[in-house]
Amino acid sequence: MRLTIKEIFELPADGRSIAVKGWVRTKRETKAAAFLEVNDGSRMGNIQCVFDEAAIAACLPELARASTGASVSVEGSLVPSPASGQKLEIKATALSVIGEAPSESYPLQKKAHSMEFLREIAHLRPRTNTFGAVARVRNRMAFAIHEFFQERGFQYVHTPLITASDCEGAGAMFQVTTLDLDRIAKSGEAVDYAKDFFGKPAYLTVSGQLNVETYCEALGRVYTFGPTFRAENSNTTRHLSEFWMIEPEVAFNDLGDNMELAESFLKRLVKTAIEDCAEDLAFFDQRIEKGLVASLQGVLERPFSHMTYTEAVAVLEKNADQFELKPYWGLDLQSEHEKFLCEKIAGGPLFLTDYPKEIKSFYMKQNSDGKTVRAMDLLVPRFGEIIGGSEREENLGLLQDRIRELGLKEEAYSWYLDLRRFGTTPHSGFGLGFERLLLYVTGMANIRDVIPFPRAPKLADF
Ligand code: ATP
Ligand code: MN
Repeated sequence: MRLTIKEIFELPADGRSIAVKGWVRTKRETKAAAFLEVNDGSRMGNIQCVFDEAAIAACLPELARASTGASVSVEGSLVPSPASGQKLEIKATALSVIGEAPSESYPLQKKAHSMEFLREIAHLRPRTNTFGAVARVRNRMAFAIHEFFQERGFQYVHTPLITASDCEGAGAMFQVTTLDLDRIAKSGEAVDYAKDFFGKPAYLTVSGQLNVETYCEALGRVYTFGPTFRAENSNTTRHLSEFWMIEPEVAFNDLGDNMELAESFLKRLVKTAIEDCAEDLAFFDQRIEKGLVASLQGVLERPFSHMTYTEAVAVLEKNADQFELKPYWGLDLQSEHEKFLCEKIAGGPLFLTDYPKEIKSFYMKQNSDGKTVRAMDLLVPRFGEIIGGSEREENLGLLQDRIRELGLKEEAYSWYLDLRRFGTTPHSGFGLGFERLLLYVTGMANIRDVIPFPRAPKLADF
């Protein structure tokens, strides 16, 4: 098989003949030589293909067509590079342009483009250094997530994306229907869900948790890793309408075990990024977020901080003048508060625990104070919440009380309550937003730039 540029860079520069296929990043021509920087996506760095006078003469019509963005095939020999910063290059003997990219119309010329502009050409942005790097890190992190759990005996469970119970409680849902809305609107009839595809209203899932708990209470250690959907009108740099979430759930784990799992999980992912994505991270460090690698390294070196919600609010209240939204006990903390706590108080990742039950989901285990639940959020500098989780209420009566207290329909939860009726156990889990992880390890500022095709309010292009 043809070698990738990444593989070629592992070879000795011994003059062997070599062929490379990829896309031209830049072309530079002098009287005596021409230089093509070719990239094939296998790594950040290009391979330089050097054409001497004889090669220029041999490749002349093709060289003229080999502009930025063109796909090419280059043949030559692999030799040491005199240029600094690269150990080898190709002394080219043959060139063919496979597909031109006319410079008058190709949008990605050799200059800095804004992230906003690149979002408008999301089909071409993977050809930039930044988005190529994001894609490689995303790939490595997805694999590392499976490695982490598989090494620890977790079973990967596939939970449904379509759900007919709107009882997941994690956020506003997108409805799934095959009803002809235009026709119903014109007819003035009431909507009859018995005629809808599932015979009742159906939605896209906001979380796989309730479903995965059923497998947790049978297989012990489980996790999901899949797409989730939230129909919230959150136009922020931290929210997507479609994002990927990892949700481990472990039988017999309490909140302390849950936090240990979350900490070793996040540290392992950071370590893998530092070790296996070094070239891409060096780029992010230099061009996107100065000091990124040192700060990630720092994360590995010390235990995460812990604070209760109540302690955190006391700290925030002392610094109330710093915030747009004044902190008080009972407030669902905003990103500004979360960032302050990790950046100014903890100086790194921070677990907040024991939140007021009113601002958390019905299934979280109630503390004996009657006011708080065994919830944990992991907050990180730069954007705040990266993980949210809890110990779950395993006591049937207490869970039923909470469902009634909130005015939820108990029938809708009957299968979920069965897990407490039959062989109930303490258990805990959390959700890590995959794109929030990517913001964390790449230093990218906007969540729309760490997923190939972002979906957000009024945004579903490509
Ligand atoms: P936030 O308060 O930041 O809106 P949340 O508390 O609503 O998040 P959870 O329901 O706890 O989120 O979801 C678990 C995890 O999923 C979060 O910790 C976060 O990493 C991620 N997440 C939640 N909502 C989004 C979103 N709209 N886009 C991307 N990731 C998200
Ligand atoms: Mn949360």
